[in-house]
Amino acid sequence: MGAEHIYEGGCLCGKIRYRASGVPIGTAHCHCNKCRRHSGAVFASGVGFPADDIEWLNEEPALYQSSENCARSFCPACGSSIAHHWLDIRTTWPFIGTLDHPESVTPELHIFVEEQIPWLRINDGLPRYSKFPPARRGDPGC
Ligand SMILES: [Zn+2]
Ligand SMILES: [Zn+2]
Repeated sequence: MGAEHIYEGGCLCGKIRYRASGVPIGTAHCHCNKCRRHSGAVFASGVGFPADDIEWLNEEPALYQSSENCARSFCPACGSSIAHHWLDIRTTWPFIGTLDHPESVTPELHIFVEEQIPWLRINDGLPRYSKFPPARRGDPGC
């Protein structure tokens, strides 16, 4: 029956659970300072979906609006970072580390490498962009 993909994930305590269906609109490692702060990791990896393709199975995560067009979600109980949300174009980018099967998606590129931590060495051969790739929007960042 076609190539329907289902991606499920959630937070550390299990209070926040989501199911994304369909084909991801993109994947990226983001090195921006805001993703670093929000995730607590030295960079954050996300997989994007149209916001309407994500179903929150228990309740919706708490949101922190980090700029005019962006919000970041987290579990109000355990504090796990969940996703980056573009409010204007309505895309949601769960952090790949929140997926039940993070190995099921493969990041395609690096963004905001101008903010990458200098000691971090990544030799994966993927394209690297100082900010966003040309002609692309909806990536984690902002
Ligand atoms: Zn939780
Ligand atoms: Zn970012």
